[in-house]
Amino acid sequence: MSSSKNYSAFGEKFNRNSGITQLMGDLNDGLRTPGAIMLGGGNPASIPEMMDYFSELTSQMVANGELISAMANYDGPQGKDTFVKSLANLLQQTYSWDISEKNISLSNGSQSAFFYLFNLLAGKQPDNSHKKILLPLAPEYIGYCDSGIDDDIFISYKPEIELLDNRQFKYHVDFSKIKIDESIAAICISRPTNPTGNLLTDEEITKLDELARDNNIPLIIDNAYGTPFPNIVFEDATPFWNDNTILCMSLSKLGLPGLRCGIVIANEETIQALTNINGIIGLAPGSIGPAVAQHMIESNDLLRVSDNVIKPFYHSKSQHAVALLQDAIDDPRFRIHKPEGAMFLWLWFKDLPITTMELYQRLKARGVLIVPGEYFFFGQDEEWEHAHQCLRMNYVQSDNDMKRGIEVIAEEVKKAYA
Ligand code: PLP
Repeated sequence: MSSSKNYSAFGEKFNRNSGITQLMGDLNDGLRTPGAIMLGGGNPASIPEMMDYFSELTSQMVANGELISAMANYDGPQGKDTFVKSLANLLQQTYSWDISEKNISLSNGSQSAFFYLFNLLAGKQPDNSHKKILLPLAPEYIGYCDSGIDDDIFISYKPEIELLDNRQFKYHVDFSKIKIDESIAAICISRPTNPTGNLLTDEEITKLDELARDNNIPLIIDNAYGTPFPNIVFEDATPFWNDNTILCMSLSKLGLPGLRCGIVIANEETIQALTNINGIIGLAPGSIGPAVAQHMIESNDLLRVSDNVIKPFYHSKSQHAVALLQDAIDDPRFRIHKPEGAMFLWLWFKDLPITTMELYQRLKARGVLIVPGEYFFFGQDEEWEHAHQCLRMNYVQSDNDMKRGIEVIAEEVKKAYA
């Protein structure tokens, strides 16, 4: 945009038409091409059993007046009291976490909670110094990238790559590289990770927790896909929280992204700060999401459907997509990150002669949308060829679309290698 509009520095930064905004626009419009195959976005799958469940649940809430009550009243700035209390109880009883309702605040989607948290901690400090959020393992969630009010609020590190059998691989945090000094405001990771489906091991989490404590900074864990809900996790992972952890959760990947309900679990001081920000920016978080989730806790369904419906659905879809891809592309230079959770596969085409940005354009021209890997390596100064050789695709589409989309990817990759 032109500066003749006289926008503030904030206005200038957030009005930028960044590449990622364009990309997300593409994803959202479905290219306006009939028959486009949307392997790009992060919308959760429409799982028939969950759709029936939510339909039944909201009918009950209409009948007993809960829904209209949620629609007709403001909650407080921390978010719906009854839900915050029930969730604190559930987590306290299930995991013996030392928490009460004072350790939880809500937001309109966890995306906005990240905006509040990152800007609460990083950027320009009262003494004019500048602090950053440390992402110990890039590729990391694209949605963080532009969230700083100030520029340059992330520093990220390349992972170690472990090559696995069956043309798979796995990233690990390279602890030998990570440097923390006064300029670091917090450590942040998504677990499982969007875009890769990597699940940081319990040991990695323990080490990051120690690093954070030793340096007197918080560890932010983005649990949008994690345990205990929605629990799109295919390996063993212990739910992790202590008073130095800021655990961010969401109702979105349960199948309710339209409710825009995010949940932050943290020490009382952090929760108070987020509550104050909520009041100023939005008066109060929306009430319908928490009312629905409260109902799910009361009927003991929240963890049950996560374990018995959501997790198996995504697990089976991911296995199917891996099998289709490995059948369609037999090149030994092609590997898939071991799918350990979330709803994406991360494909690596070693020595690909074109960038995945170029591959994205070629696929888009054929009606197949993926996300090129380049976007997920923000916070790094050095170029890394690996970043141009990877792409993210979701595996939530119908089996038919998955098959057709993967056929087109296979053809374009073969052409590019040839
Ligand atoms: N964190 C991760 C890793 C995500 O993938 C997403 C959405 O895709 C979010 C946070 C934000 O989700 P929401 O704002 O819907 O809670």
